[in-house]
Amino acid sequence: MKAEIIAIGSELLTPFKLDTNSLYLTEQLERLGIPVVQKTVVGDDHERLKAAFAEALKRSDLVIGIGGLGPTQDDRTREAVADLLKRKLHRNQEVVAAMEERFRARGRQMSEVNLRQAMVPAGADWLPNPNGTAPGLWLKTKEERIVLLLPGPPPELKPMFEEHALPRLRPRAPRQALVTKVLKTVGLPESEVEQRIAPLYREVTNPETTLLASPGQVEIHLRARGSEAGEALRRAEELAERLEQALGEAVFARGPETLEQVVGLYLMMRGATLAVAESCTGGLVAERLTNVSGSSHYFLGGVVCYSGKLKSKVVGVSDALLKRKGEVSVEVAESLAKKIRRRTGAVLGLGVTGIAGPTGGSPDKPVGTVFISLADAHRVKSEKHRFLGDRERIRWQAAQAALDLVRRKLLK
Ligand code: ATP
Repeated sequence: MKAEIIAIGSELLTPFKLDTNSLYLTEQLERLGIPVVQKTVVGDDHERLKAAFAEALKRSDLVIGIGGLGPTQDDRTREAVADLLKRKLHRNQEVVAAMEERFRARGRQMSEVNLRQAMVPAGADWLPNPNGTAPGLWLKTKEERIVLLLPGPPPELKPMFEEHALPRLRPRAPRQALVTKVLKTVGLPESEVEQRIAPLYREVTNPETTLLASPGQVEIHLRARGSEAGEALRRAEELAERLEQALGEAVFARGPETLEQVVGLYLMMRGATLAVAESCTGGLVAERLTNVSGSSHYFLGGVVCYSGKLKSKVVGVSDALLKRKGEVSVEVAESLAKKIRRRTGAVLGLGVTGIAGPTGGSPDKPVGTVFISLADAHRVKSEKHRFLGDRERIRWQAAQAALDLVRRKLLK
């Protein structure tokens, strides 16, 4: 069985609204073992809608339309599908009663326009919508293909899909299990990750492997199928293990954990504490660390020392050093790490200084140059990075590298 999704609504063709429902539906269908082979976005136009459904029904056994079931004139899905399949629309009294009840419970009078939502094509089943007025529709074509129409608002679509569509789809789904697994890496560019693992996954179709790259992070998603869950899990784990060997220490998580959660866990396990002195990241490292509940156990706090004055007055970096080496230098990063550690009594001190741009670069210290240092009682480890991208991207990558420096220290 193959599925297609048609996301309906002219707003989805503007720069302001994204079709997120299809991501949810794709995940749900994948779990059932039903692959989604095509997605289409169509505006509220009768002929275009008809054509989209006609094309999709040529290719796929299940076509899910999202949205355009509302009461207004620009909601045209119901009419377009009825027209295409040559089904008459009839007012369904059960739907009218359910809608009237919903309005009554809210102390409101149902308006005439809502009656459009009670129009059900001949031979279709309607699916109740406890979270809105538009019912869903389930139709079977002459060729035994299924058209499922769901309302657009996610709080209506999701429960309707789970309560009323899933039980109908399950018996039609292939008898197979799907297991997903993720490996998250930090510090390696996507091309490097790809190069290391391509020979291991490129020829393998089960599990399927997808790489997702974001600044400073590459995720490897595995989707394994099997006749039962155990088999799918074995397949996923076998490949994950081989990929992990090829990627080594760059892998920071084998599940949904974020880098800051992993750093927090390691600090907790070692009974260590951390304090930070951040310049170009403007508190981003502290922000990310404190996003994790329970971080007060290991994160003492930090200073956003954006100016040279604060670097010296609050953190304690010497004015002479700042003048001699410049605020963006390995020596100042080291001093920030050592001084914040000493001032706070933390086990580890982290210093970050750099040029986030777009202004402020120079030939020997171009935009994106960032120095990161981590100090413990005995030594300081420092790194020089050159990140590319806009200000936000550079700051995020700097925070990512800073957190990773702490993680790798605690791995040893
Ligand atoms: P209603 O009964 O609320 O009118 P509907 O089926 O007519 O439902 P639409 O009018 O097409 O749905 O969309 C209602 C809202 O749902 C949109 O404003 C939008 O916020 C959201 N929505 C619609 N389609 C999607 C989609 N594919 N992904 C995410 N949100 C969507």
